[in-house]
Amino acid sequence: MIRIITSVDKALSELLQNRTVDLEKVENVVKDIVTAVKNGGDEQLCAITNRLDGTKLSPGGLAVGQDEIKAAYQRVGEGFLTALRLAAQNIYRFHDRQRRNSWIDPQPDGTTLGQMVSPLGRVGIYVPGGKASYPSSVLMNAIPAAVAGVRQIVMVTPPDKSGAVNPHTLVAAAEAGVTEIYRVGGAQAVAALAYGTESIARVDKIVGPGNIYVTAAKRQVFGVVDIDMLAGPSEVLIVADDSARPDFVAADMLAQAEHDELASSILVTPVAALAQKVQQQLNKQLARLTRRQVAEKSINERGAIVITATLDEAVQVANAFAPEHLELMVADPYRWLGSVHGAGAVFLGHFSPEPVGDYIAGPNHVLPTGGTARFFSPLNVDTFTKKTSIIGYSSRALAKDGEHVVALANTEGLTAHAASVQHRLAFLAESTGGE
Ligand code: NAD
Repeated sequence: MIRIITSVDKALSELLQNRTVDLEKVENVVKDIVTAVKNGGDEQLCAITNRLDGTKLSPGGLAVGQDEIKAAYQRVGEGFLTALRLAAQNIYRFHDRQRRNSWIDPQPDGTTLGQMVSPLGRVGIYVPGGKASYPSSVLMNAIPAAVAGVRQIVMVTPPDKSGAVNPHTLVAAAEAGVTEIYRVGGAQAVAALAYGTESIARVDKIVGPGNIYVTAAKRQVFGVVDIDMLAGPSEVLIVADDSARPDFVAADMLAQAEHDELASSILVTPVAALAQKVQQQLNKQLARLTRRQVAEKSINERGAIVITATLDEAVQVANAFAPEHLELMVADPYRWLGSVHGAGAVFLGHFSPEPVGDYIAGPNHVLPTGGTARFFSPLNVDTFTKKTSIIGYSSRALAKDGEHVVALANTEGLTAHAASVQHRLAFLAESTGGE
C-alpha cells in the first residue's frame, strides 16, 4: 500500500533521499569492460557481448545491413508504422523550432563579432534493448540530431541471443535518419563509441538512456567524448486539486511505476479525500497490470501521497523535488505554470497524461531525473551542436581598444600578450604618422 505523508517537512526529507543510482557498485566491472574494448577492439567487443548477451557474434557481423532493415519493415504492423510516423513528424516539428542560427554583428568601428552554430560531426545513440524494445527512444534521440544537421548518426543496441536486433527498433532508426547501426549494447558498446574499434569509428558525443552499466560507462568515458546526461530512474509528481479524478491520478502513477522498481510516483494534494480515493484506485488498478510486480514494488517502496495545507504549498513541494515529469491535474493549470521552476516537462490539466509526452506530442522524452531538472534541460537540438565565437577587429578598432588590452595583459604578467598588441599599435602609429 502506498504511504500517505501528512507532514511536508517529513515528506521532503524522505523524498529527497536516494534519488540517484549508485553507480559506484558497478564501477570496477564497467572499468574492466571499457579497458578491454579500448585495448582489444572488435575482438573484445564481440567476446564481451557473446558472454553477456549469449550471442555468437564475430567482428564481420557487427553492422546491421540494409537487407535486415528491409526485412524489419515486413515484420512490423501497419498500426505501429502509422503511429511511429505520426510521432516522428511531431517530434521533428517540435525540435525544428529549437534550431539556432549563426549570427554576425558588424559595428561601425569595423569590429565584427559573431557566433557560428555548427552540428557535431558524428554522434552515437544508445538504444536500450535488454528487457524491452524502445523504438520511441530511437526517435527521441535521433531526430533532434538530424534536425541539428549531424551527418553521421550511429545507433548501438543489444542483440537478442540469435544476434538479431528488434525489428521495431530498426524501423524506427530508418525513419529517424540513423546512418549506421551496430548490434552491441551495454558498457562495451559505449566504450566502442568512445574509443573506436576496427568496425565502429569513434564518435564525438554519446546520448541515450540505458541501465546502470551503460550509465556508469558513459560517466567513465566523459571527457574522451561528450555525453548528454546520466539518467536515473524515472519519476512523476502529480499536483492535484479537487477537480482531479482519482482513477486518472492512479493510472498516471502506475504508468510511471511499471517502468522500473526504482521509479517514483508521487501525488501532492491539499485534498485529503482525494488521497484516500487514489490509494484505493491504486490497489484496484494494480491488479490489472501486466507488469504488476514491478509497479507494486515501485508504488510501495518509492511512491508517496503527500498532503499539503494549500495548492500553493503543493507546487512548492514539486519545485523542491524538481521531478522529471510534473502533472498539474488542477482546475486552472495555466495559473500555476508560472510558479513552476523545477521540472523536466510539465503536463497541463486532466487530459495531458504523461504517456502522450512519452510517445507522440513532440517534446523530448529524454528528461533530467533525480532532481537535476534544477539545472539540466530535456534532450534538445543544442545537445547536438557546438558554438564557435567569431572575432574580427579592424585597424581602427584595435587602435581604440589596444591600450586597454595592454593594461589588462600587463596586470596578469603576460607581457607577450601585451607585446602582440603593442607591435600593431606601433605599426599603426608609424603608418598614420602619429595622427
Ligand atoms: P540496456 O540496453 O540498457 O542494457 C542491456 C545490456 O546491459 C546488455 O546488453 C549487457 O551488455 C549489459 N549487462 C547486463 N547485465 C550485465 C552485467 N551483469 N555486467 C555487465 N553488463 C551487463 O537494457 P536494460 O537492461 O533493459 O535497461 C534499459 C534501461 O533504460 C531501463 O533502466 C529503462 O528504464 C531505461 N530507459 C529509459 C528511457 C528514458 O527515456 N529515460 C527510455 C527507455 C529505457
